[in-house]
This record gives sequence, C-alpha cells and structure tokens, in this order.
Amino acid sequence: MLGCRLLGHRFRFSSEGETMRWACERCGFEGGEKRYPTAEQAAGFARAFDREDRDELGRRAPVGLLPLRLLRAARRRRRSS
Ligand SMILES: [Zn+2]
Repeated sequence: MLGCRLLGHRFRFSSEGETMRWACERCGFEGGEKRYPTAEQAAGFARAFDREDRDELGRRAPVGLLPLRLLRAARRRRRSS
C-alpha cells in the first residue's frame, strides 16, 4: 500500500493471553509477536505501545511537509555516515 511505503506501517498493538501482537491497521502486515510471562504484562505492554504509537502519529507533520522531513532525514543520514 502506498501510504505504508511512504510513511511506514501503522502498527496497532494488541494482546492475546500472554502474547502481544502487532500488525499494520492499513494493510494488515504482521509486525510480529512477543510473549510475556503473564497475560497482564502482555496487555499492559500492548496498551503502552499502542498509546505511544498514537502520540507519535499526532505529532507527525501533514503530508505537504513530507519533502522537508525527507530532507532533514537525508541530512541526518549524511552527518552520521
Ligand atoms: Zn502497512
């Protein structure tokens, strides 16, 4: 999907018993899964990651500003290499 290729997958986190899973809500791409010792921990981490991801989305610049973001990312890459 185009949106995923441009912006990366939009992962949503959920838990099923002791397993936390994450998958892209746009295209359904399976990000992965992780097991925790208890179901409570799995649910807690799923909630925390899900919230973090949503916060990040809220800060994301509108699509019109994307070239600027890419420019900044390219600059960062150059400096670090
Ligand atoms: Zn996706």
